[in-house]
This record gives sequence, structure tokens and C-alpha cells, in this order.
Amino acid sequence: MTALWLVPFELHDPPGLLPWLGHRLEPTFRVQARVLEGPLDVAACLDKRRGQYDTRALLTRLLELPEQGLILGVTSADLFLSIFTFVIGEACLGGRAAVVSTYRLHEERYGLPPDPDRMRDRLVKEAVHELGHCHGLVHCGDSRCVMHASSAAEDVDLKGYELCSTCHRSVANARGRG
Ligand SMILES: [Zn+2]
Ligand SMILES: [Zn+2]
Repeated sequence: MTALWLVPFELHDPPGLLPWLGHRLEPTFRVQARVLEGPLDVAACLDKRRGQYDTRALLTRLLELPEQGLILGVTSADLFLSIFTFVIGEACLGGRAAVVSTYRLHEERYGLPPDPDRMRDRLVKEAVHELGHCHGLVHCGDSRCVMHASSAAEDVDLKGYELCSTCHRSVANARGRG
């Protein structure tokens, strides 16, 4: 079974979040999730002027790790990608690495009372979404499909946790090809 490495960096969310996330991701992609211990040095990926991490640099950094299988970086820090002001996550399409941030998934970010369950729901959806990209999936027109594009937390709330049947078949085929 393929390994899925969850790699924390600048992660200030409660302990236990990553094992819980890994457990939620295992059945969708038939992977065995493990948390990489020890901090990853991502200092070179920080844009100090913006105060955000550059996702392209992060994905390159994650792929330098000796671990085999899929690699998902998880952070509480804010992310950006070239022309976009921010992104919640980013992945190598059809590749091994993805990154996802909880920064914009917290209700407090929008002046609302904390809702840890909602934050975790959003994190699962975005992690499945980015790992879907790793499996070659592009954005899906089905608004309930987890591969539907979402640029804000409220968009994430509107979609489900699951791949639609079309996306699910594509992932199964990609796995079959090895
Ligand atoms: Zn996407
Ligand atoms: Zn779909």
C-alpha cells in the first residue's frame, strides 16, 4: 500500500490533528498515512515581505525529502502562489507532493466564534482535494464533488468530502496504472 506522509511545518493547530487527518484520508486513496516527526526547515520558502509561504518552493522542498509515496505538507501559516493573493492549498498535478493550510479555514479569521469541528471538516475536504490533484484530477463541475474549486472557506462548506463517481473512477484507474 502506498504511504502518505503528513509533514507538519509552522503547525500551531492542536496536537492530534495530523493523525486524525491521516486516518480520514486513508480510505479515499487507499494509502497508509504516517506523520513525519521533526520539524521541516522551510525558512527558504517564506516570502518575508508578504509574510506568506510560496507553495511552489514548498512543493520542491517536500519532494527533497527521502520519504517515498505521497507527501502532504500541513501548516497553520498562510500560503500564496505567484499571481494569487493567497491559496488554501496547492499540489503537483499527477505528482507526489501537495500542501494545505489551515490559516483561512478557522472561523476566527472571519470574526466568528471558534468552531474546531468546522475547521477540521474544511481541512479534510481541502486535503482530499489536493491529493486528488496528485492523482491527476482537475477541477470538477459537480458542485458537491470535493474536486470542485473553492477559493474561500464558505465555498469549502458547500461541497462534500467525497469524490463524485467520475472522479472516483479516475483515481481508481490512476492507481491501477501504478
Ligand atoms: Zn484545486
Ligand atoms: Zn468530481
